[in-house]
Amino acid sequence: MNTKMRIAVVGAGLGGLTAAGFLQRAGFSVQVYEQAPTFSRIGAGIILSANVTKVLRRLGVADALIEAGIKPHCYISRAWDTGATMYEIVFDAASEVRFGGPYLNIHRGDLHAVLERVVAPGSIAFDHRLIGLEEKSEQVRLIFENGITAVADIVIGADGIRSKVRETLFGSEPPRFVGAAAYRAIFPTERLRGFKIPDCTKWWGRDRHLLPYFMTSKRDEIYAIGVVPAPSWDSDEVSVPSSREEFLAAFAGFHPDLQRVLEAVDTVTLWPIFDRERNDCWSGGRIALLGDACHPVRPYMAAGGAMAVEDGAILSRCIEKFDDLAEAFRCYEAMRIPRVSDVQRISIENSWMRGPTDTDWFYCYDSCTAPIAPP
Ligand SMILES: Cc1cc2nc3c(=O)[nH]c(=O)nc-3n(C[C@H](O)[C@H](O)[C@H](O)COP(=O)(O)OP(=O)(O)OC[C@H]3O[C@@H](n4cnc5c(N)ncnc54)[C@H](O)[C@@H]3O)c2cc1C
Repeated sequence: MNTKMRIAVVGAGLGGLTAAGFLQRAGFSVQVYEQAPTFSRIGAGIILSANVTKVLRRLGVADALIEAGIKPHCYISRAWDTGATMYEIVFDAASEVRFGGPYLNIHRGDLHAVLERVVAPGSIAFDHRLIGLEEKSEQVRLIFENGITAVADIVIGADGIRSKVRETLFGSEPPRFVGAAAYRAIFPTERLRGFKIPDCTKWWGRDRHLLPYFMTSKRDEIYAIGVVPAPSWDSDEVSVPSSREEFLAAFAGFHPDLQRVLEAVDTVTLWPIFDRERNDCWSGGRIALLGDACHPVRPYMAAGGAMAVEDGAILSRCIEKFDDLAEAFRCYEAMRIPRVSDVQRISIENSWMRGPTDTDWFYCYDSCTAPIAPP
């Protein structure tokens, strides 16, 4: 594609910043528009597997992420009642070579503080909430809530599960509540009063699971996310306050090692979980979607952010390679949809690393070198 094309990315999340970072490196003029007034330290952790960190390394931020987060020694799946190990994967120098990158756990706020650096200074316009798009034959007009308008030749909708860009392409359709909610808590390790836990454990119950992990290499901060069935959800808020007592009650009867962790929890919030039905149309005209804007997944495989990053890398490579935009978008969709739909299926099953699991197809994949061919 001619690098004179002006590209607007809506949403400065994982996917949007990855796409913008690569497109800028390819010589395009890229502006990112973000609704938030600034990045804030949102209370949650995130797992970045090797298929993500190897991409972020090419954007020059892997070392900073490793410094801000933790390379866990292992991930262990344990049975809720007996505590028996159902699966364990060790992350060491050999696995890092095999997968092509480290496995990393990090606080989301720390991640964003680093991610901002993948784009040229000044290329994120904060406080720009997109409210409309008008596509003309040669360009797209972006309309923001603050009264500002902008034009671009290509628009990338990286604006998350409630994407406005998606709405302008396919109409308004709320995401699907999946009948589950997640307790989320962050607390200092000292509240465990010396009780030792592995770097990352997933406790598997019959209809619920809980994942506590460290978020810093000092192992001084723990994030615990526990997913439970929830027949309905009637709040419009993204989360509601909860409590240690509710969190403990939801996991009553679980192994004593886990009870020790939950007793240390301090502030707790409860988040409804949404996804969308699979839809294989991710673009239209001069507009393409990526990440949660087109394929939000249940957070049971820790792979939604990973898919957004991979989308960003592949979409930017397709835009760079093809002269024809429609061909670029077709190729992007053809490359991404089979892999993303596998992740959607596994996330719905909640089967990832429950027992013996082939992880190579997921961790070894490199979205910066995967062959690009016309669909
Ligand atoms: C409980 C939970 C745990 C998870 N854990 C993991 C994990 O461990 N690992 C993992 O890989 N994934 C995980 N995920 C999934 C992951 O968070 C998402 O898939 C990922 O954030 C999607 O990235 P994105 O860039 O597509 O969208 P987002 O990260 O949602 O970013 C979208 C951006 O667009 C902005 N925006 C939205 N609307 C507008 C607008 N109208 N105008 C301008 N800007 C707008 C938003 O403010 C935001 O900054 C988890 C999800 C949940 C719910």
